Amino acid sequence: MEKKKKVLIVGGGAAGLIAAVRLSAATEGVMVAERGARCGRKLAATGNGQGNVTNSFISPEHYRCGEADFPSHALSRYDYAEAEAFYRGIGIYLTKEEGKRYPLSLQASAVSDALRLKVEFSGAELVTDCNIVRAEKSAGVFSVYAADGRAFHAEKLLFAFGGKAGAQFGTDGTAYALAKGFSHTVTPLYPSLVQLKTETERIRGLKGIRMSARVKARGRYDAESEGDVIFTDYGVSGSAVFAVSGAVAAGGELEIEFLPEIKKEELYAILREKSDLPYGGILDGIVHKQLGRILERKVKGDLRALVSSLKSFRLKVVGAIGFDTAQVTAGGVCTAEVDARTMESKLIKGLYFAGEALDVDGDCGGYNLHWAFASASIAADSILKELFK
Ligand SMILES: Cc1cc2nc3c(=O)[nH]c(=O)nc-3n(C[C@H](O)[C@H](O)[C@H](O)COP(=O)(O)OP(=O)(O)OC[C@H]3O[C@@H](n4cnc5c(N)ncnc54)[C@H](O)[C@@H]3O)c2cc1C
Repeated sequence: MEKKKKVLIVGGGAAGLIAAVRLSAATEGVMVAERGARCGRKLAATGNGQGNVTNSFISPEHYRCGEADFPSHALSRYDYAEAEAFYRGIGIYLTKEEGKRYPLSLQASAVSDALRLKVEFSGAELVTDCNIVRAEKSAGVFSVYAADGRAFHAEKLLFAFGGKAGAQFGTDGTAYALAKGFSHTVTPLYPSLVQLKTETERIRGLKGIRMSARVKARGRYDAESEGDVIFTDYGVSGSAVFAVSGAVAAGGELEIEFLPEIKKEELYAILREKSDLPYGGILDGIVHKQLGRILERKVKGDLRALVSSLKSFRLKVVGAIGFDTAQVTAGGVCTAEVDARTMESKLIKGLYFAGEALDVDGDCGGYNLHWAFASASIAADSILKELFK
């Protein structure tokens, strides 16, 4: 029988590696079981390969969760300054511009490499190609079983198996069954930070057009963001759409405000002035020509109606493109069954959760990797406290 570990971590992604760094600095007997051939594969692909690992504006309002207060404790204990210090401790220095923070090299792989090297250097075991398919607790000991028949045993078990988004990185959602095996509830799952499918009639002819806009989404909850909107043949994409996508991934409505920096009355005055010109379209030079033509055709010279359609372009959302292209999962292990101050299961003593596996999802901009950091750090603290009490 494999020697009993002190802590076994299922999932060698951002949260699993961060927890392993903290745990292996303080104790022997830490093992990470990772399903893929390498740890930190998704992390290495984040932020378009640049690794937007945190944000200087971390605060609970950037997160959604079944229990609204759940993320607060971890985020206040492990805030931006703690993240910056943690990354500095493994040789990763962050960019200084306010908001999104990246490693100075703008290479996400530098972060996953540094985490992995630190874990290995500290003597923890990284076991790859190890797909954990079953876990149980008996006589105070956790036993986990890999698909190839290997069995591992440990005093404490940390589930950091991620969500359902990005199956190509090892996260296809099957690992939630491990939590269910311990009677944990998994809330409904939705793709988030993802392209949206909308009614296509209103956007015919707009494929490929990118505009700056403010986007309001009304669906499971209300959300608002400003940034790029890109029209596609199936719907809309772009940073502003990504940011609100979780709200309407299961259907809802988008209200797109083009030219958000120009107030309605000012826009009306501009259009009146332009309408005096005896040539060209009224919206030429104001919005993309194709969008202008479509909007003008609909209102037939009514400038007030034209202002309204620029300021409130409504689109019915029929769904999201899907989990494979989504960056995160909304929904997950029910946080009412997990202690927010320790990340320990309220159902099974010695079982902990961290990262996207939990029903917590953050805004675009480094908030999700920060959640992986904060929740993994709290879990590691609590495990160490229990091991050495
Ligand atoms: C393309 C892309 C870009 C992104 N960019 C950003 C960004 O710039 N900033 C940001 O904040 N967030 C970003 N995210 C989201 C962020 O990557 C995730 O929220 C974060 O990685 C979650 O960390 P995690 O450790 O909980 O899960 P993951 O990093 O997904 O790690 C989970 C690990 O568990 C392993 N695993 C799963 N099941 C098992 C099993 N049964 N046995 C063993 N191992 C298992 C998986 O193989 C995986 O390695 C991005 C996501 C994607 C897909």
